[in-house]
Amino acid sequence: SDIGSQKDRVVTEEEWLQKWEMGNIGFHKEQGHPLLRKYLDVLLNGRSGLRIFFPLCGKAVEMKWLADMGHSIIGVEVSEQALKEFFADHNLPYCEEPIPEIPGGKLLQSTSGDISLYCCSIYDLSSSIVGKFDGIWDRGALVAVNPCDRQRYVSLMISLMEKNSSYLLVTVSYDPNKHKGPPFYIPESEINTLFG
Ligand code: SAH
Repeated sequence: SDIGSQKDRVVTEEEWLQKWEMGNIGFHKEQGHPLLRKYLDVLLNGRSGLRIFFPLCGKAVEMKWLADMGHSIIGVEVSEQALKEFFADHNLPYCEEPIPEIPGGKLLQSTSGDISLYCCSIYDLSSSIVGKFDGIWDRGALVAVNPCDRQRYVSLMISLMEKNSSYLLVTVSYDPNKHKGPPFYIPESEINTLFG
């Protein structure tokens, strides 16, 4: 099949941490993502003061955009360096605390309280720890997840959604036989199967 070449590929957490250490972060968009601007109304759907989730958040500047619009931002990222760079890049004071339910995990929260970033693996989270969300911005997240973990990731995302929540998903289209990823190629048919 056309995804056969990527099916068994695994990028470890250690490799992601190394990417951050080496500054090998070509995925980071300093100007933010044009598709969030374009589809912002779909995400918000006329609502204000939402809880918006950024899975595998990196130091995405869109977290600052949405916080400035009055929403609460919750992100999760395995690299503490990424999260510290986020707060430093935007001159935001923050404090750190352990997460009782997640040994070794840390919560970095802006002093203003509107941006809460969990430093741990996404797979450590559950709705009992982070609650549920009105909106999810999935860019560089599902496409970064190892192909073997996709169903687990999507089931978790679904469990974190409030009844009327909206989910914006950005994927990439290319020939998976020519690039090993990430980002990984996910055919639309698979996305439909994953999300049901
Ligand atoms: N969404 C961000 C970052 C995309 S790159 C953006 O749009 O810029 C994917 C990010 O996921 C990396 O920063 C990597 O460190 C992080 N990551 C990879 N596996 C993870 C996991 N299991 N749990 C949490 N974060 C993870």
